[in-house]
Amino acid sequence: MSDFAEMAEAFEQARTAPDVTDRATGLEEADRIGGVAMVRERLQGQGAEECEECGIEIPAARRRAAPWAVCCVDCQGLREGRV
Ligand SMILES: [Zn+2]
Repeated sequence: MSDFAEMAEAFEQARTAPDVTDRATGLEEADRIGGVAMVRERLQGQGAEECEECGIEIPAARRRAAPWAVCCVDCQGLREGRV
């Protein structure tokens, strides 16, 4: 099953759950699957030429080393420190 179908199913189950706890658990599950799908897409993706955060051009060496990168090393560090 694709991530999207799995996510849609989890949402549907959550939406129709009789119990509010089941509903919350279902939404969490759908969210988790959605997160996985997003990360996977990003890993397969082309990344960005310019940093999403500060807009500078991401150096070619970084793009070769991390083709999925969407921000520069500095901003990536800040993101990881922040989260
Ligand atoms: Zn940056």
